Amino acid sequence: MDSVSFPYDAPVSQTLFDRASLVTPGGVNSPVRAFRAVGGTPRFMVSGTGPYLTDADGREYVDLVCSWGPMILGHSHPAVIEAVQAAVARGTSFGTPGEGEVALAEEIVARVEPVEQVRLVSSGTEATMSAIRLARGFTGRPKIIKFAGCYHGHVDALLAAAGSGVATFGLPDTPGVTGAQAGDTIVLPYNDLEAVHAAFHANAGQIACVITEASPGNMGVVPPRPGFNEGLKAACAQNGALYISDEVMTGFRTSKAGWYGVDGVAPDLMTFGKVMGGGFPAAAFGGRKDVMAHLAPAGPVYQAGTLSGNPVATAAGLAQLRLLDDAAYEKVNAVSKEIQALLTDALTKEGVAHRLQTASNMFSVFFTPTEVRDYEDAKKQEAFRFNAFFHSMLSQGVYLPPSAFESWFVSTAHDEQAIERIAAALPAAARAAAEATA
Ligand code: PLP
Repeated sequence: MDSVSFPYDAPVSQTLFDRASLVTPGGVNSPVRAFRAVGGTPRFMVSGTGPYLTDADGREYVDLVCSWGPMILGHSHPAVIEAVQAAVARGTSFGTPGEGEVALAEEIVARVEPVEQVRLVSSGTEATMSAIRLARGFTGRPKIIKFAGCYHGHVDALLAAAGSGVATFGLPDTPGVTGAQAGDTIVLPYNDLEAVHAAFHANAGQIACVITEASPGNMGVVPPRPGFNEGLKAACAQNGALYISDEVMTGFRTSKAGWYGVDGVAPDLMTFGKVMGGGFPAAAFGGRKDVMAHLAPAGPVYQAGTLSGNPVATAAGLAQLRLLDDAAYEKVNAVSKEIQALLTDALTKEGVAHRLQTASNMFSVFFTPTEVRDYEDAKKQEAFRFNAFFHSMLSQGVYLPPSAFESWFVSTAHDEQAIERIAAALPAAARAAAEATA
C-alpha cells in the first residue's frame, strides 16, 4: 500500500465520508464500497448515465462496476426509467399479489429451463438462505457443501470459508456466527471434485445440498474447469443431495439464461439477483417443481417477505430483462472482449505478469503469471500491483471494483467513446502496476 499514491483528492466525497463515518459503521452500507483494500476516499456518486458515473465532486468516470453487476444496460436506461416511473405512479407497495411479479416470474421460467417455479425475494442473500433452508427441508438432512472463495451473501451458514483444506468442517469466520450455525457447513477447495466425493463419502446420508457459484466471480473470475459443474450435479444425484447453482451474479448476465445458458448443466435449485432487479432490490430462487412445492404456503418450509415482488422493483427488472435479447448479449460480449484485449495489451507492454480470466462477459485480472483455479491460487497474486493500477485508473476517470478479488462488469451502453477513455488510461495504469512495490 505504501507505494500507492492518491493522485488527486475528492474533497466533497471526503466530507460526505466523514459525515457517514459518524453515523454508519465504516461510513458505508456495504463493506466492498469502502476502498479499504485499495486505500483512499470512496467516491460518493450522485448520478449515472449510460456507461458513466458522476461523483459528488463533479468528476465523471467510465463505470466498470455497473453496481456490481445489475446495470447491464448502463445507467438510467430510458425504458427502465419509464417503467419505474409508471409503476411508482400507481403506488409503491401493496402487500398483496400483483401482476408484475407474475410477469417477472414467467420471464425467468421462460428463460431458464431448469426453473419450473420461482419465488421472488429482495436480495441475493435472502435467495441463497432460502434455497438452503428448502434443500434441508426437502431432504431432511443437515449438512451443506460450499466452496472456499465462493460468496453467497452474508448468510450465517454460508460465511464459513475457513479451512480451505480438503473436506474441512467450516468454522465461523465472522464473530457473531456461532459454531452451531456454521458447523453443518463443509468448505471445500473450488474446482476439486475429489474433495467433493470424499466429503460425500465421509458424511453419507447427511448432505442436503452442494451450493456453488455457477461460475465464481467473488474471488475474481475463476470459471469452473471443464466437467466440474457436471461432476457436482452427478455427485449430488448419486448421493440424494440437491445441486444449487448460485446465479446471483451470472444470472441473465453471462447469457440470456445465465451460466446455465453457457454450460447447460441443469441444477435442482438456482438463485438469482442483480440483473433481474434492474437496479432495484429484487432477487429470486427457483427450480424443480417437486422441490419448490415444499415451500409455504404450498408446503411446510417457511419463507416470506413484506416487500417480496415489490411492484416498482419487478417493473424495473422486467423492463431490463425484456431488453436483454441476443443482440444485447452480443454487444456486451463484444465490449468485454475489446476491453480485455486493451487490458492485456497494456500490461504486457509494461512487462507486468498477469492472468486475465473470463467467464462470458465477466472478467478480472490477477497479478500472477499462473492460472487461478481456486481461492488459494487467487490469494497468491501480487494484490499491491492492483492497488496502484486501480488508483491510476481512478485518477484518469475509470472506476474499477476497488479490490483485486472482484469481477469487472460492462454494459450495452459502453460505446466507442467510453472504450477510448479506458484505452487512454490503461498505459499509465499498467506502468503504475509495473512500478508498484509491496
Ligand atoms: N450470491 C452471489 C454469487 C453474489 O455475488 C452475491 C452478491 O454479490 C450474493 C449471492 C448476495 O447478493 P446480495 O448482495 O443481493 O445479498
